Amino acid sequence: MAGSVDEDRGTAYAQLLRGQKALVTGAHSGIGMATAIALGRAGADVVVNYVVGADEAEKVVAQIEGLGVRAYAHEADVSDEDQVVAMVARMVKEFGTIDIMVANAGLQRDAAATDMTLQQWQKVIDVNLTGQFLCAREAAKEFVRRGVVPEVSRSAGKIICMSSVHQIIPWSGHVNYASSKGGVGMLMQTLAQELAPQHIRVNAIAPGAIRTPINRDAWSTPEAEAELLKLIPYRRVGDPDDIADAVVAMASDLLDYVVGSTLFVDGGMTLFPGFATGG
Ligand code: NAD
Repeated sequence: MAGSVDEDRGTAYAQLLRGQKALVTGAHSGIGMATAIALGRAGADVVVNYVVGADEAEKVVAQIEGLGVRAYAHEADVSDEDQVVAMVARMVKEFGTIDIMVANAGLQRDAAATDMTLQQWQKVIDVNLTGQFLCAREAAKEFVRRGVVPEVSRSAGKIICMSSVHQIIPWSGHVNYASSKGGVGMLMQTLAQELAPQHIRVNAIAPGAIRTPINRDAWSTPEAEAELLKLIPYRRVGDPDDIADAVVAMASDLLDYVVGSTLFVDGGMTLFPGFATGG
């Protein structure tokens, strides 16, 4: 008897990244956790990077292993060059190579511009921008060394930068964060231009408001959520799975001709919602 539509969809999903090796940074929580699990569901072996939250990271690993693929957790600070180099080197040793790098780790250190310390500025730039550069660079080295393996994927490797709607929307009180994500946009485009001739695809996913620990204050009370929904034409706060599914699609050969793009996954937040009634 034929399977249900859901079973068929599940089977198709499980084939999308079969045999590929993926690394997700900042994967003990939020979007990174959902992404690591979705990549496993799509058939990839997954490295779960974390810098805090070892127990949660091990639970993510167990969940991914339960899907019938391999996974392990690796502690590393993405803003530390030696730690990133060692993390990718270990992955190449244990899994043989890397096919998908999801540079997801990020943080906020909010303050009014006039009160922001250099430390607050630098920490956000170090993790959100320099961290993505280091992870992309180490993955790209392995992609170039190995080249295309047609049975695995049409491209030599995929780098997916986790950006934000603040790649293009200015954000008062968050100048360090908005600057880091604006930088991620140009980091991604320049790497895409430079690496495309070697069949490496570099793209970004730009989430809108997603329910995770990073922005708990924005959705944790009904009043805060109502305010937030005014900024979202689709009138729902996003879930980590909304982003995880976008990452799977972006990493798969379905989107093989997508190079240097930012996919906004934001319920329309970048559509200038204030102009729906004003202007
Ligand atoms: P989160 O706080 O749950 O996840 C961030 C992760 O990054 C955590 O696991 C954290 O431990 C990790 N991290 C922080 N510093 C690190 C370091 N130095 N090395 C390694 N890991 C480190 O929040 P999230 O919402 O899941 O954020 C994930 C990404 O999505 C971030 O880049 C964030 O900017 C981006 N984003 C989130 C939203 C949202 O609405 N939640 C919107 C746009 C963009």
